[in-house]
Amino acid sequence: MTPYWLELLIVTLFGLCIGSFLNVCAYRIPLGKSIVRPGSRCTSCGRMLSWFDNLPVLSWVVLGGRCRTCKQPVSWQYPLVEIVTSLVFVVTYLTYGLTLLSLVRVAFGCALIVLFVTDLHHKILPNVITLPGIVVGFVCSFFLPPGWVSSLIGLIVGGGFLFAIAEAYYRFRGQEGLGMGDVKLLAMIGAFLGWKLVLLTLVFASFTGSLAGGLLIASGRGSMKYALPFGTFLAVGALLASTWGDPIADWYFGFYQ
Ligand SMILES: [Zn+2]
Repeated sequence: MTPYWLELLIVTLFGLCIGSFLNVCAYRIPLGKSIVRPGSRCTSCGRMLSWFDNLPVLSWVVLGGRCRTCKQPVSWQYPLVEIVTSLVFVVTYLTYGLTLLSLVRVAFGCALIVLFVTDLHHKILPNVITLPGIVVGFVCSFFLPPGWVSSLIGLIVGGGFLFAIAEAYYRFRGQEGLGMGDVKLLAMIGAFLGWKLVLLTLVFASFTGSLAGGLLIASGRGSMKYALPFGTFLAVGALLASTWGDPIADWYFGFYQ
């Protein structure tokens, strides 16, 4: 019998390693490069990283956030992605244990983390993630929560709702406010989480969006015109809904039963 602390340690370390891989995905997918080959390189000087330059979080801290060879700064976003991924693994494990649902939710969380980064940096939500995501989420719902009916409604309501807003915005303003990437992302979220949690995702996304927008404006660093891409907030909202949404949704919808 493995002690509980050891189980948590293994989940934490595994999460850090997967987070390191997600950094590679988020960097390479928008550039259309392979995520498998070649091995990790410094993005400034191109030097191949050895295993001890590539330890999640630890190498970044030991090297002071710089490349060993060219001394160019390495973004703090790399260790941050690793830590967030690890947290998602641990929280999911604590909530759902070692189950198939945990595995699906963790894979969903990984997709969201990569989409967050690509939307933040390139304002794109790659189809190679969202389209298979919609299919995988729906297929899994046949034998896992939220069940295929809720998944199908979530998929249609999530995608359809944003599609309607995007269309209306385009008609009235004559410019694109929401991209089709956002529509596909919310359809994917609906497929994985079902219609209740897709609504909760929208609540969380609007809340974090207003908070971040307010902070940007208050700090004088941005205006509504330079608003952060909506997909990043959808990703954050869905991560929260995926890990903590079930008890909140039960509590909220409990009033109407
Ligand atoms: Zn370098």
